[in-house]
Amino acid sequence: MAAQTVASASTDSAFGPASALSCRECGERFPLEPLFACEACFGPLEVAYDLPSGDPETLRKRIESGPNNIWRYAPLLPVPADVASKPNLNPGFTKLVKADNLARELGVTGGLHIKDDSGNPTHSFKDRVVAIALEAARTFGLTTLSCSSTGNLAGAVGAAAARAGFRSCVFIPHDLEEGKVVMAAVYGGELVGIEGTYDDVNRFCSELIGDPIGEGWGFVNVNLRPYYGEGSKTLAYEICEQLGWRLPDNIVIPIASGSQLTKIDKGLRELIELGLVEEKPYRVYGAQAEGCSPVSTAFKAGHDVVRPQKPNTIAKSLAIGNPADGPYVLDIARRTGGAVEDVTDEQVVDAIKLLARTEGIFAETAGGVTVGVLRKLIETGQLDPAGETVVLNTGDGLKTLDAVAPTSRPTATIRPSLDAFRAAGLAG
Ligand SMILES: *Cc1c(COP(=O)(O)O)cnc(C)c1O
Repeated sequence: MAAQTVASASTDSAFGPASALSCRECGERFPLEPLFACEACFGPLEVAYDLPSGDPETLRKRIESGPNNIWRYAPLLPVPADVASKPNLNPGFTKLVKADNLARELGVTGGLHIKDDSGNPTHSFKDRVVAIALEAARTFGLTTLSCSSTGNLAGAVGAAAARAGFRSCVFIPHDLEEGKVVMAAVYGGELVGIEGTYDDVNRFCSELIGDPIGEGWGFVNVNLRPYYGEGSKTLAYEICEQLGWRLPDNIVIPIASGSQLTKIDKGLRELIELGLVEEKPYRVYGAQAEGCSPVSTAFKAGHDVVRPQKPNTIAKSLAIGNPADGPYVLDIARRTGGAVEDVTDEQVVDAIKLLARTEGIFAETAGGVTVGVLRKLIETGQLDPAGETVVLNTGDGLKTLDAVAPTSRPTATIRPSLDAFRAAGLAG
């Protein structure tokens, strides 16, 4: 059996506490290499660990004395112990904002927090996943960093590659928002628009990997996907640490491929296993836009399989019609007693403006999706407003200005005179 042939990684290895890749379907184990599908059953591979044993208090102190970025959790990630000394963008430890005004507006009484990942180096949560994939690429001696992207990932890869001295070549659907395109191009790598949807881009990238052209390429979300995914665990770690080493009752997470949601759940379960938080039930909720809602559609129909859709929504960063981790998202929502919901584009815009006017946080459309879904979950009785709730904002509104531009204009444009100001009716 392959399991016996995989040596357990020692803590000074390039992958820290990670011991192997393991298949999420059949459990077969593989060495830590740039692999992403099980050779036995084609199931997706994920990183398996020998997590630190011993006193949780010692581990907690070690984490708390670490840097104010994701590397404070290096003992729980597939990275070398000296990772913080290597050139990387060092994302993470973003703000957990207590959102009392929004809570009042939505009727949440148990405490509401926004995990605001727009504060990352390229203004989305994608810097977390890229940071881990980049370290894997470095270890594997890959020289070109690449990805198929719905927008934010392209910018995160371009920036991280620039800083770490990799060549980069990233692929996006041709019709993305201006803010995403410019952010993907500005770091100086190659940026290729593909005439098609994200799912077409992703298929193209899989072909490229199989071709000699792709030799030496690290596609962060394809052949490095097992490592990439682990970056999302840091959201779970940070949320619990920032709550004072506690689990929330409810957590609302956006779904594109579903990777982030599944890895946040993995991170929460690890914290329980390590004794870093007290075990209690928590509910995981997934959020989609109605115009790309393959997972919520399956959830509501009680299906285990996710039927692909052709996306049509302003929430382009979540527009994956055939989400790779969709079935695992369904499992987690059902196991934890959560749900998967969707909101219309109009509700997305309303939610962006609601979050902005109540908390001073300008979210991209994905954040409008999570806040809009939170509101809908409460209104439909699917989420208990007496529970402590965390909702994710995964990106920055400056990248999706078009969503709110038509309804966010100056109150008045006047000559620079007091008379004109009075005449505009703004003198109080
Ligand atoms: C990529 C992305 C997500 C979620 O991605 P998954 O593929 O589900 O991990 C959420 N929000 C934003 C802004 C993103 O760019």
